[in-house]
Parts: sequence; C-alpha cells; structure tokens
Amino acid sequence: MKKHYLMTPGPTPVPDESLLAQAAPMIHHRAPAYTKILLRVIENLKYVFRTEQDIIIFASSGTGSMESAVVNLFSKGEKVIVVSTGNFGERWVQISDAFGLEVVKLQYDWGERSNIKDIKRIFDENPDAKGMLVTHAETSTGVVNDIKAMAQLTKGKDTVLVVDSVSGLGACELKMDEWGIDVVVSGSQKALMAPPGLAFVSLSDKAWKFVEKSDLPKYYWDYKKYRLALQKASPQSPFTPAISTMLALGKSLQMIKDEGMENVWERHKFLAKAIREAAKAIGLELFAPDDDRANSVTAIKAPEGIDGQEIVKIMREKHGITIAGGQSKVMGKIFRIGHCGYYGKFDILQTVSALEMVLKELGLNINEGAGVGAAARVLKNLND
Ligand code: PMP
Repeated sequence: MKKHYLMTPGPTPVPDESLLAQAAPMIHHRAPAYTKILLRVIENLKYVFRTEQDIIIFASSGTGSMESAVVNLFSKGEKVIVVSTGNFGERWVQISDAFGLEVVKLQYDWGERSNIKDIKRIFDENPDAKGMLVTHAETSTGVVNDIKAMAQLTKGKDTVLVVDSVSGLGACELKMDEWGIDVVVSGSQKALMAPPGLAFVSLSDKAWKFVEKSDLPKYYWDYKKYRLALQKASPQSPFTPAISTMLALGKSLQMIKDEGMENVWERHKFLAKAIREAAKAIGLELFAPDDDRANSVTAIKAPEGIDGQEIVKIMREKHGITIAGGQSKVMGKIFRIGHCGYYGKFDILQTVSALEMVLKELGLNINEGAGVGAAARVLKNLND
C-alpha cells in the first residue's frame, strides 16, 4: 500500500468537507439557492482579500484572472511596468505583449526579491505608466515581494498596482484596502484549499475608473458584465458558474474564517520556517532569501551533481509524496515544496523525513534525522 501526499504549490489538498460539498446534487445558477451560495462565497473572499470591494468570480484558472485584469484596465499601446522575479512575472509580460501594451520590464535574477528602490526608480523614469503589474508570491522561486511598499508608490498616482496573488492569497499577509492595492487577482487551487477552476478579482474605486476607459477587446472577461449581474435584485454570475467548485470553495473559506486570517498566516509562517530550517540542517541551500514572508512555497537547490527532477521523481514514485520541480530555466537545478493551504505540522515532518531518505538513497552523506529534528523544533510552537 502507498499513501499519496500532495505537497505542491497548487493544486493543494482539499479538505474532506469541501470534497463532500461539491458532490451535492446540481442546482440551477439562476435559482435563489445559488445566489445564497454566491453571496456567502463573496463575503468570505472579501474577508480573505481584506477588502470591502466586491469580488468578481470567473470559471477559469488563475491565468484567466491575470488576462482579465490586462484587458479590463488598459487601452491599446498604453505603458505598463512589470516587476518580474520569475516565471509568473514573465506571464504578466507575455499577456501584456499579447494585447499590444508597451512593457517596461524590471527584471530580477530568479531567486532574488524585488527591491523597492529599483521599483521607485523605474516608476520615476516612467511616470506615464498606467499599470504596475507584480507578483505577490513568485511560485517559481519562493520569493515574496513587498506589495505594501509598492502600493505606497502608486497611491494617488494615475497608475494602478495590479497584484497576482494566485499563490500568495491566504498564505502570505496581504491587506488589499489597508495597503491601498488597486487590483488583486487570485485562484482557488492554492491557499484557499479548493479544487482548481475558479479565479477571483477585486478592484479599488480607482481601478474601476480605469475599467470605464479601457478599450482592449473582451467579452467573457468584461468586468462590467459581472458587476451588473451582481447588482441585480437576485445577484448572479453573467455566465454559467462552476457550481460544484463554488460549493467546495464555500466550505474551505468557512474553515479559513473559523481559524481566523491572522492565525492562518501565522500557521503558514511556521510551516515555511520549519521547511527552511530543515533544509539548512540537512545541509541544503535555499534558492530564495531566508525570509519569513515567503510562506507559500520553498525552493531548495538540488545538491551538486544531483538532478532536482530525480529528487521529485523518487519522492513521488517511492514515497508517494508529490513535490514540484523547477520551472523553465531552473528545471533540474531546484525542487519546490508547497505548503500553502490545508497543511499542518505533520505534513511538513513526513515530507522532510522522505526527503532525507531520498537524499540518502541518492548517495548523499547526510545526517539522517537532522532535518526532521530542526523542523520539529520549529513546529512544536505551532498551535494548530
Ligand atoms: N501566478 C502565480 C503566482 C501562480 O503560482 C500561478 C499558478 N502556479 C499562476 C499565476 C497561474 O495560475 P493557473 O495555473 O491557475 O492559471
């Protein structure tokens, strides 16, 4: 017998209650029963986004919510600044290119955090930029960027700060209204503990003014259609929503609310720290800075002479634990352990334990138990 454990930065494990919820009989999306579900999900998403603004929900993956932001906020040829710290920063560049925007790119080496001084400089040099498109938790490297500081730069300017928090939201601190973020986009399959298939967007009043002026082509993504449908006497989605996934998400969001947002962030902080301490105790090197904001995923360098993909393969095939490899240009050089979502201390301990076994099997002379011990010393203080 082999048990399977999912330790990737999305999709992530879905709690049993949520899985059972999505098995409920189908209902119609124009009936009052669905309105009730929709309103409850929006209310709880507002709690997680830390916003009083409405939330638009798409049947889509996270990338759809990114594309929706570009086509709803900007007009042909307008300039945007993209702060790119990895694969998902690159996605902002690719989407902006696809719609004919002029992209000014601030590029960091993979594994490096963005620096607010650089961002200020590039913004000063490009005051006509209509958007600053950034990644909160850069899933490809484990870096978490300083969104709060970026929001200080765009506040009061004719530029919207658009944050991809697909893997950050619910794991790493983010306060949309308090920090003054204009647009947050996210997805269901990571820290929100739901199956893939739902994407979310919330906009500030300033961002809604951009929506009024935008001339890029859109139909399914048109935010105004979603706002109109929400303003009906019986609020709805303009198109058929992913009803079963909404039911699952509803349960998961309720769990987050019951635990309390601050406690959820705190738990993620412990889980991430435990992984980082374990990696160091084993003698491995972290790919991104050792940062207590980096709480969604941890990227670890593959030891000299060992292919990171081999570690991922043996973890999965021999021990039943699915972790993630490196993407794009760091494939084989790193491996990534996801810990955003439905995770507790023992998920971390068993993953570290398996990692030690795999490294030993690959011929590394490591001190078995060193990583587990280091992780346990962090996790013993976590009250989950
Ligand atoms: N942005 C980030 C930071 C992500 O981690 C991901 C998914 N890994 C995406 C965007 C894209 O989301 P999806 O795969 O759901 O389209």
